Order: sequence, then structure tokens, then C-alpha cells
Amino acid sequence: MFKISKEFNLEFGHRVHTQSLNHDFCAKGDVKQCCRHLHGHSGIVTVSLEADKIDRRGMVVDFKELGWFKDFIDNNLDHKFIIDGNDPLFAALVTDVLPQQKILFNRVYIGGNDGQPQIVGAVVALDLLDIKPETPIYELLEGYFIVDFVPTSENLSAWLFDIVQQKMKPFNVKVSEVSWKETAKSIARYHG
Ligand code: ZN
Repeated sequence: MFKISKEFNLEFGHRVHTQSLNHDFCAKGDVKQCCRHLHGHSGIVTVSLEADKIDRRGMVVDFKELGWFKDFIDNNLDHKFIIDGNDPLFAALVTDVLPQQKILFNRVYIGGNDGQPQIVGAVVALDLLDIKPETPIYELLEGYFIVDFVPTSENLSAWLFDIVQQKMKPFNVKVSEVSWKETAKSIARYHG
């Protein structure tokens, strides 16, 4: 069995609107539900792939063949605020920002290897809204990446696992793990 891993760095913001602590297990006095605040992290995503045999090139896959994933992270998530479309603050933060007009969204797709592009999220359709670039409202709305789950490290790693698994189908490899490292001491792993 061969296994390779590649790391991807990103700066991201999120809010865990479901945080609820069992105080009996927290450090004394450390019971503030800070993850409900709008906040950010320097994250590291690690993708691990495995194969029983290496290919004719002597590889599981060429590390460069995860370049599409770097592009996805860089173009969609880096320096973005990942927000759940079901977040109780979604209206206040996104849809009510332009009360005089309806906010429109563009779906974000990945894939196409098997002819089935995968919807992975959404962004505000700035191209369809009459908002001038380099204005504060434009910059606010440009900063959101919208998902349909609570963006905990666990959910984010499972979400990316599915994206990688779908995209890497043409290779004879298994996605063994995707991890999402949120802080120096906190990491979530998903194995499928
Ligand atoms: Zn956080």
C-alpha cells in the first residue's frame, strides 16, 4: 500500500452557529461560545491518497495532479468567510445587505470528469447585481462562500473529501483522508 499526502494553506473565516458547550468538560471559566462569533483562522487542509500499486510513472498520482485542488482552495476559500446558508445570521450578513433589491447567487461547480459537474457551494452573483467593484458593499459580498452545512472543521473535511473523491475518479486511487487543521492544536479528519 502506498500513500501520499499534500498540504494546502488558506486563511478563512467562519461562524459555528450551533456551538453548545457541556460546561462540565470545559476548562474552568472557559465556557464562552466564541465559535459563534465571526472569526478567522490560518487553516491547513491535508489530502491523503492511497493505492495498492503505483502507476507506470512510479507514483500514486503526481503531486501536480492535485493542482486543481489548490486552485479550488485559492479561488474559492482563501480569505473568504465560509457561511452556512441556514445560519440565523445569514439574512443580516448577506441577503439584507441590499434591502432594496433581491440578492442573487451563482452556484460553484467542480468536476466534469464523469460528465457530472458537482455543485459545491455558492457565491453572491456580483456579475448580475448592479454593485460597483471596489466599493465596501462589493467587498463585503465578494468575501462570502456559501455552503449548506455548519462549517465546523469536521464538516469542512467531509465536504472536501467528497469533492476530492469525485474529482480523482479517473485515477486508480482511494482518498484515504482529508483533514482540516483549524488551529495549531485543533484538527479534524474525515476518512469516508
Ligand atoms: Zn473557528
